[in-house]
Amino acid sequence: MTDNRIRNIVIVGGGTAGWMAAATLARILGRDYASITLIESDDIGIIGVGEATIPQMATFNRMLGIDENEFMRATQGSFKLGIQFVNWGRQGHTYFHPFGKYGVDMQGVSFHAYFLRLHQLGEAPDVDLWSLQAMAARSNKFMRAIDAGRSPLSDIAYAFHFDAGLYARFLRSYAEARGVVRCEGKIVDVKLRGEDGFVQSVVMENGSEVEGDLFVDCSGFRGLIIEQALQAGFTDWSQYLPCDRAIAVPCASVETWTPYTRSTAHKAGWQWRIPLQHRTGNGHVFCSEFMSDDEATAILLANLDGAPLAEPRTVPFRTGHRNQFWVKNCVAMGLAGGFIEPLESTAIWLIQSGLSRFLTMFPDKQFNQADIDRYNRIMATDYEEIRDFIILHYHATEREDSPFWEHCRNMAIPERLAEKMRVFRSHGRAFRENEELFNDTSWFAVMHGQLLQPQGFDPVAEVMSLEETRSRLAHIREAIANSADYMPSHRDFIRENCAA
Ligand SMILES: Cc1cc2nc3c(=O)[nH]c(=O)nc-3n(C[C@H](O)[C@H](O)[C@H](O)COP(=O)(O)OP(=O)(O)OC[C@H]3O[C@@H](n4cnc5c(N)ncnc54)[C@H](O)[C@@H]3O)c2cc1C
Repeated sequence: MTDNRIRNIVIVGGGTAGWMAAATLARILGRDYASITLIESDDIGIIGVGEATIPQMATFNRMLGIDENEFMRATQGSFKLGIQFVNWGRQGHTYFHPFGKYGVDMQGVSFHAYFLRLHQLGEAPDVDLWSLQAMAARSNKFMRAIDAGRSPLSDIAYAFHFDAGLYARFLRSYAEARGVVRCEGKIVDVKLRGEDGFVQSVVMENGSEVEGDLFVDCSGFRGLIIEQALQAGFTDWSQYLPCDRAIAVPCASVETWTPYTRSTAHKAGWQWRIPLQHRTGNGHVFCSEFMSDDEATAILLANLDGAPLAEPRTVPFRTGHRNQFWVKNCVAMGLAGGFIEPLESTAIWLIQSGLSRFLTMFPDKQFNQADIDRYNRIMATDYEEIRDFIILHYHATEREDSPFWEHCRNMAIPERLAEKMRVFRSHGRAFRENEELFNDTSWFAVMHGQLLQPQGFDPVAEVMSLEETRSRLAHIREAIANSADYMPSHRDFIRENCAA
């Protein structure tokens, strides 16, 4: 019998995507299945942004068997309970998109339905009161869940902020300890096999060639193999998500480490603020059609908590994805595969899901086209569903103070999102479709937070009397307030558990 097993895997790129791929393949396949080589160029370096995550990252750490405190120490990490959105729905307005759920669903009816009933009576102005994550974030508190029976403290959803450069280094030592071989140098050419156009090897600047059965392209936006050699093509979404540049700058850390990412909308985009132990990461994402680099830099620098620690850096990007993520014997991960702007910190998750979906379709040397087609279809759906959620933030706004916001309010949006907004506007109902990343709580948080006004509430909420609804919601609110009070400050929690 012919041996069709993949014996030789070459990963091109040593940014977050490359080292996540290396660590995952080394962990799952073990040392003896195939040799794994990772090529990266110190001259080119990594993109070095991408420092906020979503709770699914904990699953990735667990899959690798990584100790969370060790990971936090190594990456100067902090914890994240959600995102605070400032000036998005309208200027001066703030809302919080928390991880986890609001309240509890009761009698088979979603919590949102009961909340909206009281909200529309003017009795429940602030939905944050029913989210432990939002209330803890408000007072800069954090702890991991404990075994506390039915208390909200038994279920605390969180993610991480970390230093992207340190994260790549951390995963590198993990992967090298499991047999991955790192090769430093610049790739100058990609050789394709004459008979079928599969990738045969990559050619290094010193003339040497690295051959492989399978190539994982993690070379960043350039898509060295997937695009430059295999011409996968690109689906461009700039008509829906017009921001195309970011200016990034770290600044000195402040006394309070907020356990959340802040996203502040400006005239033609928005600014992120990500607190780490040793510094705060900041960046201004904007649309070059409506703002120059100079103006974007000035706005960013005028809105920092502390002194800048480096020169501001410009990062141009294009929103969309390769028409095919996997072509022949090359699969693209990370920025080489696609990018949706960083508003909801989804890019690292897309690497994670790309890797786990790829492992469920792991090829042999025959590279069955049906497997490849399925992978490409599923990944495209992942990207599209996230895209729609991000568009919502821009489109559902009352802002009309700049040409950029006028454009976003009036632009055409995908029909699936338009339907979600119509459904919400009628009775305030929000759903997770199929297996999409963002659940009903996230859709509700952002639609409500962006000031979309439902005409009524879900009629099924009347399965409970008004008196009982008031009393149960008051009870939940109290349990959440008490739980938030009980939690230590974010800074103390880090000091005691995972100070770098
Ligand atoms: C402005 C911005 C903000 C972001 N914020 C977030 C966030 O908050 N959360 C999140 O999840 N994601 C975020 N992302 C996305 C995140 O940064 C990326 O998904 C992540 O860093 C992965 O990057 P990468 O490894 O694909 O690419 P890169 O970091 O660019 O790595 C590319 C690698 O390829 C190598 N390489 C390239 N060409 C060659 C060559 N010719 N020879 C040899 N080696 C080569 C480079 O040396 C490098 O090692 C953000 C992205 C941007 C642009």
